Amino acid sequence: MPEAGFSALPYDELLTCIRCGFCLPACPTYASTGLETASPRGRLALMKAAADGSLPATPRFAHEMFFCLECRACESACPAGVPFAHIMEATREVLHERGLSPATASPVGRFAMRRLLPDQGRLRRAVRLAAAANRLRLPQLGRRLGIVSPILAEQAAALPPAPGPRRLRPSYAAEGPRKARVALFTGCVMDAMFPDTHDATARLLARAGAEVTVIPGQTCCGALHDHAGDRAGAVGLAKANITAFEASGADLLVNNAGGCGAMLKGYGQLFADAGEPAAWQERAAALSAASRDASEALAELWPEGEIGELDADVTLQDSCHLVHAQKLRSAPRALLARVRGLRVREMAGADSCCGSAGIYSLTNPVDSAQVLDRKMGAVAATGATIVVTANPGCLIQMRWGIARHGLQQRMRAVHIMDLLALALARARP
Ligand code: SF4
Ligand code: SF4
Repeated sequence: MPEAGFSALPYDELLTCIRCGFCLPACPTYASTGLETASPRGRLALMKAAADGSLPATPRFAHEMFFCLECRACESACPAGVPFAHIMEATREVLHERGLSPATASPVGRFAMRRLLPDQGRLRRAVRLAAAANRLRLPQLGRRLGIVSPILAEQAAALPPAPGPRRLRPSYAAEGPRKARVALFTGCVMDAMFPDTHDATARLLARAGAEVTVIPGQTCCGALHDHAGDRAGAVGLAKANITAFEASGADLLVNNAGGCGAMLKGYGQLFADAGEPAAWQERAAALSAASRDASEALAELWPEGEIGELDADVTLQDSCHLVHAQKLRSAPRALLARVRGLRVREMAGADSCCGSAGIYSLTNPVDSAQVLDRKMGAVAATGATIVVTANPGCLIQMRWGIARHGLQQRMRAVHIMDLLALALARARP
């Protein structure tokens, strides 16, 4: 008999794995360890054993499940179409309920999930506080006193400075004939740390012919909650976003964070899995159908021709949840290709995780650094001076990698929307 909760794992999906091993070379944690248990195939075998009742929910089992980055590279590599993340999230929900999820087991983690991420005011204050601590070099002092780990001090030192005065406006009028009414999804970390990227995204969309509104009442998408196994927390946040989007009357909900976008597109599935009433499932599915990544929306709306001008060498670090979950590989590349003067240097393994993976860099900093170090080798080999990303976590992680590898004089990390806005500004009188 499986332990309570494991009997609800999607057993039919577990059976779709044919154990071919095609996913192994794509898996960052398998690359780090060479261990079958740290591979997609091994994790699926462990989850099947749990569903069969031959493996209990032990801390060791939980460690293997949360050692996974949930980057979903295995899904792209899998010829059998195993829905790995769907199975993993069901497993993590059981572990969360048993108090075995590293993100929600501690009071600090619970506070961050329930009280910090959904509260923009509180999150902005926390970001300003962290930036002030950085200016005073408190993480380094804490490291010398032995109360902050060296790796945490290193991560903290690479965080961006606090954002300046907020430029994001409530709405942006479409330039030329209106092609679409867009609600801009602002999220949590993206909004607190990179609000200017939202302004850049809105200006680009407006330039492409969208009327853009920053809708009130929206909140964190719930992706971090869902990945931590807190499905109820994710559903609660999703309901607030659905209500806010419906009230906006917009045609599309556009986001500029790969992780948020995958979550928004997955609301329909989330509500079905959570057994929400049919009416809520329909509303969730409608929001999912209207969701677009900013690069996807821009590629759709931008008129023919170039998008500005920029003389630079760039390389693109794919957001895992953009490329593997949303299957958006060509949209950001197509946009970069339309910038006059921009030289795009494709990176080896651009679609391989950078180690950020939501809060993985905080819960597993040493493992995250190992993945990051491999990534930075590939980034540096391109010779680019700008590494472009499409997700706040990747942006923060790339900043850490650049600092960790002493590349600050050679390169910087930039969100693709900021890069496009800069290119546009350069080309315009
Ligand atoms: S590639 Fe797919 S089917 Fe093959 S072992 Fe990996 S998860 Fe299983
Ligand atoms: S989601 Fe990523 S880290 Fe997890 S098993 Fe798949 S490839 Fe490996």
